[in-house]
Amino acid sequence: MKDIYELLKQYFGYDSFRPGQEKIVRNILSGRDVSAVMPTGAGKSLCYQLPALASDGITLVISPLISLMQDQVRSLIEMGVRAAYLNSSLTPRQLALATENAAKGMYKIIYVAPERLDTQSFLSFAMNSDISLVAVDEAHCVSQWGQDFRPAYLGISEFVAKLKKRPPVAAFTATATRAVKKDIISKLGLNSPVKYTGGFDRPNLYLSVEQPFDKICRIREYLKLHPGQSGIIYCLTRKETEYAASVLSNEKCRVCAYHAGMSDDDRKRVQEEFIYDRINVIAATSAFGMGIDKPDVRFVIHLDMPSRIEDYYQQAGRAGRDGEAAECILMYSKKDVGLNRYMIEKIPENDPLSPQQREEYIKAELACLEHMIFYSTSKHTCLRKRILNYFGENVKNDCRNCSICRKDTSVLTGHIGEAAEYDEILYSKLKEHCKRLALFAGVPYYAITSETMLRELSAQKPESTEQLRRISGFGEEKIRRYGKGITDLIRKYKSGQE
Ligand code: ADP
Ligand code: MG
Repeated sequence: MKDIYELLKQYFGYDSFRPGQEKIVRNILSGRDVSAVMPTGAGKSLCYQLPALASDGITLVISPLISLMQDQVRSLIEMGVRAAYLNSSLTPRQLALATENAAKGMYKIIYVAPERLDTQSFLSFAMNSDISLVAVDEAHCVSQWGQDFRPAYLGISEFVAKLKKRPPVAAFTATATRAVKKDIISKLGLNSPVKYTGGFDRPNLYLSVEQPFDKICRIREYLKLHPGQSGIIYCLTRKETEYAASVLSNEKCRVCAYHAGMSDDDRKRVQEEFIYDRINVIAATSAFGMGIDKPDVRFVIHLDMPSRIEDYYQQAGRAGRDGEAAECILMYSKKDVGLNRYMIEKIPENDPLSPQQREEYIKAELACLEHMIFYSTSKHTCLRKRILNYFGENVKNDCRNCSICRKDTSVLTGHIGEAAEYDEILYSKLKEHCKRLALFAGVPYYAITSETMLRELSAQKPESTEQLRRISGFGEEKIRRYGKGITDLIRKYKSGQE
């Protein structure tokens, strides 16, 4: 078996693992099942992609959404990994071809929708292949306790039982409620799994609560100050998303609405344009969720306070997945409380709850709302402390990266990660260069580079492949494909400068 640190460097271009990753990778490779709960952006994908590369057979990744699969497969191919997806976005012919290729062993990692697991063609491929690992991404979809329940996830354990030899099964999610964790283990049929729960802190997120007099005005100002950045504005109602999109959009900043009332095609288009940076900001209801793995979302603004801290933190957590500084701004007004109460008490008529269940449900939801209000009206307590305490983590020190901690310091010290010195002109030249490359390759810009990589490049200014290798995120395939273009640009820039 290849050394995992070597693979980490060769394919991903990283020198070290993030918390939890190494433990999970090693356990999978030793044949154990795994159930891992790690917050958004913690790096769950690597936990199954690396074992896939270290093993002989094929890894199957079960994933609930087409856009997630496409995203990951694109990135893997950019890394030089033979990967493919099998889902309903392919024509029957393409699907047949891909399955045939899979049977010939042409792919190392195959992403598959859960619905495909019990189709004849897929089964006959899987049962006759050497499957080294079954990874279940977004594993909370197996639980009826969450809003993302996908019945087809219940068929996974049956599918695994049909394989020639039972491979380890590794489940990943960011959802941490106890009921969901239990469901994941029982419904996926995990076999005395190694359990891992990561810390919930996301230190790169600046948390803030504001009470602006005019929320839309405030957001308009914010957008002006953050040109070209990707962001999400969460609203409570569909009407509001459309209103926000129409009044905030202008020629410098394209804002589009996204909600469950739109057609599948429209939603897909908005998502795709956001991924490719043709839309800067999405004004969305909570329907805009799991599908967005865009790592460079720089801000998440809540136009209204949501009703639960769980929802708030999950939505806010869609900012800054790349680990770079990002801002999460909650706009609070007293009116939000009333609106949330109203929405909780008005359960849909067709809801099958008995009057007593209904009463209990409403009581529980209102209790959650109280926590949310408590967070939103914090005057002196660090916001991060409040959130992490809510999730049961004991936090002693104030974070110094929230609106409460910063209130008393008149001089803002700049966000985490902004301290390192880099050449801003070179940075923007490199960014343009990589955007052109991405356009040419037909992949999102982040499949090729990240803010961190660009910043490191424009600080260290590598002129050779050897120097480029020292930059985190440059694996061998990336260097092979794009290295020369980048070092040439840097060399030219430096000589022009002197
Ligand atoms: P999750 O699925 O847990 O939300 P992802 O797997 O999408 O997170 O990873 C988030 C980001 O973290 C990606 O941009 C990924 O490249 C980066 N990442 C993952 N592992 C590492 C690591 N060991 N070192 C540096 N960056 C990493
Ligand atoms: Mg993920």
